[in-house]
Order: sequence, then C-alpha cells, then structure tokens
Amino acid sequence: MVIRRILILDDDAEVGQTIQWIAESLGFEAEFVTHSAEFFDRLAQMCPDIITIDLVMPELDGVEIMRLLAERKSRAKIIISSGMGTRVLDAAERSASEHGLSIAGVISKPISKEALRSLIGEGSECNQAVSSEKQSPHRDEFEPTKSDLQSALDRHEFVLAYQPKIECISGATAGLEALVRWKHRDRGIVMPDQFIPVAEKFGLIDALTSQIFDQGLDWFAKSFPESNLKMSMNISAKSLVDINLADNLSDLCHQNMVPPERVVLELTETSAMVDPILSLDLMTRFRVKGFQLSIDDFGTGYSSMVQLVRLPFSEIKVDKSFVVRSQQSRESRTVIKSIIDLGHSLGLLVTAEGVEDLDTLNYLNSLGCDLAQGYFIAHPMPGEAACRWVERRKLSLPV
Ligand code: C2E
Ligand code: CA
Ligand code: CA
Repeated sequence: MVIRRILILDDDAEVGQTIQWIAESLGFEAEFVTHSAEFFDRLAQMCPDIITIDLVMPELDGVEIMRLLAERKSRAKIIISSGMGTRVLDAAERSASEHGLSIAGVISKPISKEALRSLIGEGSECNQAVSSEKQSPHRDEFEPTKSDLQSALDRHEFVLAYQPKIECISGATAGLEALVRWKHRDRGIVMPDQFIPVAEKFGLIDALTSQIFDQGLDWFAKSFPESNLKMSMNISAKSLVDINLADNLSDLCHQNMVPPERVVLELTETSAMVDPILSLDLMTRFRVKGFQLSIDDFGTGYSSMVQLVRLPFSEIKVDKSFVVRSQQSRESRTVIKSIIDLGHSLGLLVTAEGVEDLDTLNYLNSLGCDLAQGYFIAHPMPGEAACRWVERRKLSLPV
C-alpha cells in the first residue's frame, strides 16, 4: 500500500503538531517544521505529495515560500492555511495558481479533521481523487518552434472542438463556441494555451485564425443550415492590426454561406491591443459587417470597464474564475452580480462561462444572466458529437 506524505510548515509548533496528528490519523506520513530553512531541507529529502503552508510567518511568509516552490517547480499539492479572512486567502490561492503551483485548497484555522479530510482524503492509495490525479501524466513543457507550427498549418493539424452555450432561463441551446486543438502526430491532443501564445509570437496567428475560421464556418453551415444558433470564435487581440481582417472574415462567411450576424467574435486581452485606434476602427467595421463582438474573460486583469465602454461590444463574458468559485466565495458572487448589472445597463448580453454545477446555473438564472456555458452543461466536443448533443437537447426540452 502506498502511503502518501505530507509536510507542514507553520511557525506555531502547536498548530503544526495538531495538523500532523490529524494527517496521521487520516493515514498519512506527516512531519511538521517551523522554519523555512528546515522546510526546504525536508522538502528535498521527503518529496511530499502534499504541503500545508501557513500564510503568516515571521521570516518568509507563505506567499514568498510559494514563489520559491514555484521556482523549484514543485509538483506537490499545496494547502494554504491561515487565520486571515477569505479575501486574503483567496488572493493567496490565486497568486499560487498564477505561479503554476497545484493548489488543493485553502483551510481556515483552527483546522478541523473534517476540513483537512475534505481537501486531502485518506493517506493510503485507496483515495481515488488525489492518487488518480497523481498518476495522470503531468502537463509537460512543450514549446513548439515556428517550423513545428508552420508544418502543423500545412498539414491541417488544427481541429475545432465545440462547446454549447445555453439560455439560462429556458435551457435552450443558444450557440456553440469553437475552441482550437492541435492533433499532434506524437503528442496527441495539444491544448490552445500551449500553442496560441507561440503562434502569436511567431506571427502565425493570422494564418491559424483564417484556417480554423474557415473550418468552423464550413462545419457550422453544414450542421445547422436553418437555425438561429450562433457560433462564437476566438480572435487574438494581436490580430487586430490589419484593417482588412473584417473583410477577410466576412468573405469567409459569405464563401461558407453563413451570415456574419450568426457569428460572435470573442476577444481577450483587449489591453494587449497593439494599436488602440486601429483596433477601434477594426472592431467598428466588424459590427458594421454584422458580426457580434464579445469581450471574453471579463473581470480579469486583461479586460476593463474602460475597454467595455469605449469599444463596440455586444456581449460580455464573465470570466470562469469567478463562476467556478461562486458557491464558495461571496466576493466572486459580488463580482458576478456587478458584471451582469453592468452588462445589462450597457445593453449587452451576458454569458457566464465555467458553470460546473446546477447550483451555479440556478444562481446565475436568479441574477438574470442571459447565457451559460460550462462542464455542467457540456464539455467541448468534436463536431459530430456536438451536433448529436444539440439534437438530443432539442428533444429533451418542452416545446
Ligand atoms: P476561453 O476562450 O476563455 O475558453 C474557455 C476555456 O475554458 C476553454 O479552455 C474551455 O475548454 C474551458 N472550459 C469550458 N467550460 C469550463 C468549465 O466549466 N470549467 C473550467 N474550469 N473550464 C471550462 P481551452 O479550450 O483550453 O481554451 C483555452 C483558451 O485558449 C481559450 O479560453 C481561448 O482564449 C484560447 N483559444 C481557444 N481556441 C482559440 C482560437 O481558435 N483562437 C484563439 N486566438 N484563441 C483560442
Ligand atoms: Ca472564448
Ligand atoms: Ca473566457
């Protein structure tokens, strides 16, 4: 039987001791230390599966410890413990995830056995939740080169998955978002976060956008010729440098016989727009040609109210980081409500992405959110499966 190891860092020995006892009673091999130097010593020798870190400590605080863990590329699951309020704990959790650490959760002091168990389960291999994740392959560091991407484009290795969007109030399908995947010859499916930024860096994003746009429109036209469904496509802000993009995309729509009115262009990182005036002109041209425009990931560092008011958006997407936490975090609920109210007061449709359970969907509906998207409704799927999903959904809803 594999026994999992947990290393505890808390400057208060009594607290550290208590967590150790609780962890041992759950079947873990546990050790606690009170100083950071000792912590990094034990870390190297013990290779723990789980680490608990006190946020407030006199020498190095928890945030600094996590930065050092990130530098060491630690793969242990991290639990942040503290007696501080949820806002500080939430911020610490976000900062750890931004550094690429794997966070099991946060836990408030005084620490109870039940709270710890709910985060880490039991120490032996029979705990499925953590051990199966442990066995799953780690996301490796794949940095494609320019020629990798160019040959993938030449070989048409980029494919689209489609994730449905529904109306909160009726549950009816409103549309689908196209999300690109790379069908790599050796690596299998590569997710967009691993190649979109590289395509942007090497100036290949426009070629990628037109290739997948064409593919998506062709699928959409054939699958839903006579319907009101909309298709959302993601456009990199880095592409907003060519005033002809509006003509190129609208030509692709006409070639595929999809009216631009049925296409929503989702834009992220509006602050990264290279040329704000050109972007404004281009976005206005998109609207003039009939496209809908959506501001993606709203509420993150990349989107802002100024952009929302200045640019001709028709939809606002509440970032999933707020939506996935809405049931646990009052702050997230406040942000969601404010974004919905802001969107509606500007006459925009509001979509919430990252809906992972029924309670969240009901909550969004109670706030008057228009559209919802997320794993609870459906995961992104290949084209054929997405068509079947839309058909089944139609049959399951009252007419
Ligand atoms: P995004 O546009 O914000 O897309 C939503 C991401 O959240 C997708 O990840 C989707 O699979 C994931 N997701 C959907 N439902 C849930 C949920 O309930 N919970 C959670 N935790 N996640 C959910 P994906 O497919 O890995 O895409 C990542 C990002 O890559 C996209 O974020 C988008 O910014 C970018 N991207 C995807 N396709 C394209 C594309 O064709 N062109 C460009 N320029 N960017 C793209
Ligand atoms: Ca999107
Ligand atoms: Ca998003």
